[in-house]
Amino acid sequence: STMPPLLSAIANAGRHGVLAKSAVVMERLAQVDTVALDKTGTLTEGTPYVTDIRPLPDGGLDEHTLLGLAAAAEHASEHPLARAVVAAARERGLRLTAAEDFTSVPGRGVTATIDGREVRVGSPALLADLAGQGAGAEREVRALEDAGRTAVVVLRDGVPVGLLGIADRLRTDAAATIAALTRLTGRAPVLLTGDNERAAERLAAEVGITDVRARLLPQDKVAAVRQWEAEGRRVLVVGDGVNDAPALAAAHCGIAMGRAGSDLALETADAVVVRDELTAIPAVVRLSRTARRLVV
Ligand code: ADP
Ligand code: MG
Repeated sequence: STMPPLLSAIANAGRHGVLAKSAVVMERLAQVDTVALDKTGTLTEGTPYVTDIRPLPDGGLDEHTLLGLAAAAEHASEHPLARAVVAAARERGLRLTAAEDFTSVPGRGVTATIDGREVRVGSPALLADLAGQGAGAEREVRALEDAGRTAVVVLRDGVPVGLLGIADRLRTDAAATIAALTRLTGRAPVLLTGDNERAAERLAAEVGITDVRARLLPQDKVAAVRQWEAEGRRVLVVGDGVNDAPALAAAHCGIAMGRAGSDLALETADAVVVRDELTAIPAVVRLSRTARRLVV
C-alpha cells in the first residue's frame, strides 16, 4: 500500500486490538526495554468477586449488614474491588443506604458517611493507625491473605467492624504475554501492585514474574518508573486503574487496559488495548519495531 510506514503501523496496531493515540507512540514503544505491569485488572481479569464475609465481634453486625454497609460506601467507586463488593450485595438482594460525602483515595480505598456515621472501606493499611484496637482485624487479614485473598477492611467511626475476602482470576493469556515480553526486551517484566505481597507473589509465580513490588501507592509506582528511567531504561507501564494513571504518564510509554480501565487511565495512557487480550501488548511492541526499521 502507499500508506506512510508509521500510519500503517498505527493501522496495524488497531488490527491487533491496540489503539495508539499518535505515531510517536509507536516510535516510543519500539525503544522500550523494561515492562512494568499492574496486577488487579491488568494481569487479572478485573472482575474480582467476594469470597468471604467476616464480621468482627466489636462491630456487632451480621454478614448481610456488613456487606450492605461496605457496598453503600463503595457504590460510587469505579475500583474493581468496589464493583465486586457492590455486585455481591446485589446478588443477595440487599438494599443499599445512600452514602454522603463520598471520597476515594487511590491505592487505599473509600470513605463515606452512611446513616450519619463515617464508614471507611479499603486496604488493610487503614488498620495501621488504630494501634491496639486493630489486633483482631489484623489476624483476620493474615488468615485471608494466607488463603491468597485480597483482604478489604470495613471501619465504622474508626472501629474495624469486619472484613471481606476477594479473589480474582488470572487472565488466561497472562503467562504467554510475560514470556513474549521477556523475549522481546531481554528482561522479565516487573509487577507493580497496591495489593499485599502474598497475593502478588502467588500470582507472579504463576506467570513467570520474579520482581514483585507490593503495597505500592500511586506515587510509589511513579518512583519505580523514575528510578529505571534515571538508569537510562525506557519503561512501558501497563495498567488500568486511577492508581496507575500517574505511572502511565511518567513512563516512556503507557498502555491502558480498555475494558476494565478507568476513564483516567484511558485518558492518560499513550495507547489503549481495546480488544480484551493481554497478548495484544507484545504484538504491538513487535509491530512498533518493524515499523521503525521501515522508517530509518
Ligand atoms: P492494584 O495495583 O493491584 O491494581 P490498587 O492500587 O488499585 O491495586 O489498590 C491497592 C489496594 O488498595 C488494594 O489491594 C486494596 O487493598 C485497596 N483499595 C483501593 N481502592 C479500593 C476500594 N475502592 N475498595 C477496597 N479496597 C481498595
Ligand atoms: Mg489495577
